Amino acid sequence: MAQAVKRLFPGVKVAIGPAIEDGFYYDFAKAEPFAPEDLAKIEAAMRDIVSADYPFERQELPREQAIAFFRERGEPYKVEILEGLDAPRVSLYRQGDFIDLCRGPHVPSTGHVKYFKLLSSSGAYWRGDERNPMLQRIYGTAWPTQEELEKHVWRLEEAKKRDHRKLGRELDLYVFHDVSPGAPVWLPHGWTLVRELERFVREVLDARGYQEISTPILVNKRLWEQSGHWEHFRENMFLVESEEQTFGLKPMNCPESTLVYRHALRSYRDLPLRFSDMGRLHRNERSGTLTGLFRVRQFTQDDAHIYCRLDQLQDEITSLLELVREWYKTFDLQPSFKLATRPAKRLGTEAQWDAAEAALHQALKANGLAYQLDPGEGTFYGPKIDVDIQDALGRRWQVATIQVDFQQPDRFALEYIDADGQAKRPVMVHRAIFGSFERFVGILTEHYAGAFPTWLAPVQARVLPVSEKHQEYGRAVYAKLRDARVRGELDDRNEKLGYRIREAQLKKVPYMLVVGERESQNGTVSLRHRTGEDRGAIPLDRVLADLAREIATRASGLTVGRS
Ligand code: ZN
Repeated sequence: MAQAVKRLFPGVKVAIGPAIEDGFYYDFAKAEPFAPEDLAKIEAAMRDIVSADYPFERQELPREQAIAFFRERGEPYKVEILEGLDAPRVSLYRQGDFIDLCRGPHVPSTGHVKYFKLLSSSGAYWRGDERNPMLQRIYGTAWPTQEELEKHVWRLEEAKKRDHRKLGRELDLYVFHDVSPGAPVWLPHGWTLVRELERFVREVLDARGYQEISTPILVNKRLWEQSGHWEHFRENMFLVESEEQTFGLKPMNCPESTLVYRHALRSYRDLPLRFSDMGRLHRNERSGTLTGLFRVRQFTQDDAHIYCRLDQLQDEITSLLELVREWYKTFDLQPSFKLATRPAKRLGTEAQWDAAEAALHQALKANGLAYQLDPGEGTFYGPKIDVDIQDALGRRWQVATIQVDFQQPDRFALEYIDADGQAKRPVMVHRAIFGSFERFVGILTEHYAGAFPTWLAPVQARVLPVSEKHQEYGRAVYAKLRDARVRGELDDRNEKLGYRIREAQLKKVPYMLVVGERESQNGTVSLRHRTGEDRGAIPLDRVLADLAREIATRASGLTVGRS
């Protein structure tokens, strides 16, 4: 690309052009921004360069000589890069008449990089510093085959269409307001999603011996001093003064969960204790970094803290991993696991780390999970397992985390009385599976492209009377939906049926129940899926029963009227 740009715009200087995830960019010093037509011309010139199949020739030379070379060619940015390098010799690559500074390696010739596309261009400061000159950056992507290139371009377009901020507006889920940056204003439909996810969390955790607690949002700094957050996390906390005392809005639930632990004398027989706390948290992120639901200041973790004996740790982690797998199956999301072990700087004894790391390894094995090992990447207070999920577009999101903690039990002097009558320290496990409800709703919105499975869909069924004559039956059907706890809507506006059907489809309502003359006489509804599929007339009772089953089982597909 740089060769093509130099060919078309000879006065332009080349700056830096690294490979990035799924592609590359290059920064150029050019007075005017590149226009979209320029990108098309550059692409065409790149194709010529590919057809010419120039071999890439590597040349090594002393750094001083390379500096002189690029100075002579009038490339000040290359000179600056070279001056900053701490290497006696550097490598250059030649392709035809173009020579660039590069560490390599390269493919043998330009004919090997056929499948590429330029994506966009934008201004970028030299070395990312706004005091430096503004350069023009062109982004591109390149793949081994045409098929992979097309698939990637499709994913990019699809991701744009699925942007949760766009869909959030279109589907009336949430809005943001500048009176509270980074905190979503949940509209009724969006809040329904959160409520359904909370219900899911409670059902799953109640069945697994968790106890839910709720702890204050505004907490005296004394607690944060004891937990260490005051020293290490204060910059990210919102502080409030009252009656000459300093309070902080909680950025994490952990220290307060220890208040619940310390509330009673604990014996070895009481453990493990599993406290779930869906607390509302605040972290002071810079307002410029906030993006939709992905980067917020206020959020709610599906948090829990487990207190157990070291000899119970492996069983606890094993069942947590089982839980994570089951959990994500509900959403058709593929989890993958990463184990991060002891870093150089750490708390706790070697024996504790040995036992904790062994427990995590064993738990992963017991679940038959393949996992990536990240040696040295654990936190200073304990090893951890991070969980990524892969969404419908193949994108990965880090969501869940399971962290063993030797520090907080020490800081808060947590104890239990062991079988031998001695007071001992429990191990603490922090874990969140969605991560936060806010971010997870954003991920789900994009994963499903707004077409949520029925159990999550804000509106599950819409009743559409064909004309005014059928409104009474329509109201009766709507009432039956409500009685069956199905989230329904009645659209009896004086609009054409086709128009109302299209609108329900745009709002991604899973089912449309069309009622006309025949339906009101026979006690049926004509069922349509949001996909456009028309299932014809079906007895209303059967539709209600199917709907109830689909919702109760949290099915991912649309099944009503198929049995
Ligand atoms: Zn925690």
